[in-house]
Amino acid sequence: MQLPSRVDVVIVGGGVMGASTAFHLAEAGLSVALFEANELASGSTSKAAGGVRANFSDELNIALGARSLDLFSRFLERPGYEIDLHRPGYLFALTNSDDVARFEKSTELQVRLGVESRMLSAREASKISPLLSEAGVLACSFTPNDGHCTPESVVLGYARGARKFGAVVKTGVRVNGIEVADSEITSVVTSEGRVETGAVINCAGAWSPEIAKMVGLDLPVTPYRRELAITEPLGESFADLPEQFPMTIDYSTSLYWHREGKGLLMGFSDSSNPPGFELKRDPLFAEKLGSLAEKRAPRLLDLGIQSGWSGLYEVTPDHNAILGEYKTVSRFFYATGFSGHGFLQGPAIGEILRDLYLGREPSIDVAALSAERFSKPDSLRPELNIV
Ligand SMILES: Cc1cc2nc3c(=O)[nH]c(=O)nc-3n(C[C@H](O)[C@H](O)[C@H](O)COP(=O)(O)OP(=O)(O)OC[C@H]3O[C@@H](n4cnc5c(N)ncnc54)[C@H](O)[C@@H]3O)c2cc1C
Repeated sequence: MQLPSRVDVVIVGGGVMGASTAFHLAEAGLSVALFEANELASGSTSKAAGGVRANFSDELNIALGARSLDLFSRFLERPGYEIDLHRPGYLFALTNSDDVARFEKSTELQVRLGVESRMLSAREASKISPLLSEAGVLACSFTPNDGHCTPESVVLGYARGARKFGAVVKTGVRVNGIEVADSEITSVVTSEGRVETGAVINCAGAWSPEIAKMVGLDLPVTPYRRELAITEPLGESFADLPEQFPMTIDYSTSLYWHREGKGLLMGFSDSSNPPGFELKRDPLFAEKLGSLAEKRAPRLLDLGIQSGWSGLYEVTPDHNAILGEYKTVSRFFYATGFSGHGFLQGPAIGEILRDLYLGREPSIDVAALSAERFSKPDSLRPELNIV
């Protein structure tokens, strides 16, 4: 395989982060090589539920989500690809008063930051999300401009766009080492040979700690298996459902569901899964899903499961991304640890990494997300609106 002998920037990983970053840098005129060990989107990105939202508690996540939604909504023009974006909203159903108080606070913050967001009663919520059972629901948080789209299409759209601007996007190429002299990156060693470069951007998701170690940086990112299911097509008994309804989440159990093709996509974050890279599916998953659905959305039990898969969340101690430039080795950037909400931040993160590389001030100040925050406990910023 022919690799370029020298590029301005090497990007490690061909998920949403790597592809978006390659597009934004190549569009800005930089020579870029993206190396993906397997296939494009084959890591966590293709396993995502596709949810895109600005419904967060941390103001940086609200801003990153809102900016990404804006870019997703114009994806057909730039980079120019169909991503099947639907925006029926996000709805968090809340069943205890502490959670209601927290979401009231984050709703206020979202509104202050220009995001349309409101609290709904259980009755109002079940009207727009008809499978939701009102029993025990005290209130709901609703952001009507959120939604979902197709993760693989987003990656392919960005990769195609990047190639149009001259980027080299190579699959089946593993990055095995980074060479450094006098604290400066000189080259990247891959399974297909060496490429000279002065900069590396680590977009290797759950595998990003391995890449960071190559330059002596520790990234506290832990992989956790997460599973979801796709149901059979909705039959006659679901004819009352609207064409689209919000991505609906039972916050206390994390059970979620949204329309997917002719059926539904549903899942939950099983907190009993141990950390690790094991992807074997849980034989009890359908049963566990069923017992959560029985309480919060009993009509889900009438649907057979047609398929499903499991993938990895790349989780940090405060459920917030780790994003920035390493101080010790010049021009080593990292964007990882998105803790279950990375797909939706991909467009904004690509833009920000372009600006950090170019030494421009990014439109969103992400300094607080740097890896250094883990050495100062006061600098942690826990995100609460997680799934
Ligand atoms: C079941 C599930 C549901 C989810 N639902 C949502 C959702 O609804 N909304 C949302 O926003 N997020 C969701 N997520 C989270 C989201 O999928 C991730 O946060 C996001 O995809 C991370 O993207 P990434 O590009 O950083 O990583 P990845 O997509 O994992 O890409 C990293 C890539 O790096 C490659 N790589 C690793 N090591 C090397 C190497 N040495 N050399 C070359 N390449 C290498 C890997 O092969 C991989 O393709 C979900 C995740 C799961 C598992």
